[in-house]
Amino acid sequence: MPCENDSWDKYTTMGMCENCDLCLKNCPTGAIANDRFIIHTDKCITLHNGSNEEFPKWLNSKCHNSIRGCMCCQLICPANKNYIKNIEDFAKFDDCETRMILSKTQLDELPQITYKKLESINFIEYYNLLARNLNVLIGYRH
Ligand code: SF4
Ligand code: SF4
Repeated sequence: MPCENDSWDKYTTMGMCENCDLCLKNCPTGAIANDRFIIHTDKCITLHNGSNEEFPKWLNSKCHNSIRGCMCCQLICPANKNYIKNIEDFAKFDDCETRMILSKTQLDELPQITYKKLESINFIEYYNLLARNLNVLIGYRH
């Protein structure tokens, strides 16, 4: 987009990227360019599992690793080493809740407690994606 004042600095990567290509090697879809600066979003799982469109045919189901988004490049990055443990345990879904989600039970038909759990992990907005994404993960792991 044209801007009158272009105050962007030249792009740069972190110093520790100089001799590292762990994110590039760990990206299941090859979305990270060799310079480790550009991410080809059309190849990034995060785009596809957050979209209502069908998964593209080229996307191997074994690449899926998360219900929403993808953490493969983040988890491997040494710069995240001290932060990656900051996982908050918001909600756990039992078998019954999981079955309801997988069978695409309407949001307004879910028990209130299940609805609240979904709300606590910001999944109300993405609820229509949840069954599809969960199914592809279960299919991969079993
Ligand atoms: S894994 Fe982290 S440190 Fe290594 S190249 Fe990628 S962004 Fe840089
Ligand atoms: S989020 Fe996943 S698919 Fe996207 S660039 Fe990172 S590792 Fe690759």
